[in-house]
Amino acid sequence: MLDCIQLTAPSYERIAYATALRLGYPDSGRADNMIAGEVRCSYETAMTIGKPKYCCNVSPIKSCGGEIIELAGFVIRSSKWAHAALRLHNPSTACCFALTLGAAVDERIETMQDENFFKAFVFNAVCSSLAEEYADQAERAIARRMQNDALEATARFSPGYCDWGLLDGQREIFSFLNPESIGITMNEAGAMTPLKSITAVMICADEVRNKTACAYCGNSSCEYRRS
Ligand code: SF4
Repeated sequence: MLDCIQLTAPSYERIAYATALRLGYPDSGRADNMIAGEVRCSYETAMTIGKPKYCCNVSPIKSCGGEIIELAGFVIRSSKWAHAALRLHNPSTACCFALTLGAAVDERIETMQDENFFKAFVFNAVCSSLAEEYADQAERAIARRMQNDALEATARFSPGYCDWGLLDGQREIFSFLNPESIGITMNEAGAMTPLKSITAVMICADEVRNKTACAYCGNSSCEYRRS
């Protein structure tokens, strides 16, 4: 249903900005010339060798509450998100997606690590920014598609975020979505190959007033809190 979403190449400016933040700079304008030049070079390489692929599946929500959200096909064991889903108006659907930049990016990072650690470090950061940018695109596109069914969507959340266990969540998503179809595999710890791969879920309801579970969470010191 949602497999035809097109991922489009993000601009250099977007990736440079996100990468500068990732590297600890307050914004891309403050990155020194050597870093900025390396980010530009890494961006161009990533756009050449990266082959982004994406898959998605949709499931009705059977129940939510307590510690879990039960879908037709998999279960999300997260008390934070189960609590948040309960606060939505008629949560009915979950969208699950996976995307990857592809194996060539991993191979290039490995080669660079042997040759020049600095270049590998910057290239790795640029590719992480790129994967997140594509995930943002997928999230926005899914939210727009769900509007056709008069549904609103939460922000995406992934296995390993908050109280959703990485291995448990990945097992559920892999069993439901089959990300192997786009070349993503997982190991016994839940880590994915290629490295620059993202899996995520969005909950859809008639009305979504708060897009994340954080709005209902009392953990004020959590560094991952989202508005
Ligand atoms: S504030 Fe932190 S612990 Fe609480 S829901 Fe958000 S990510 Fe989870």
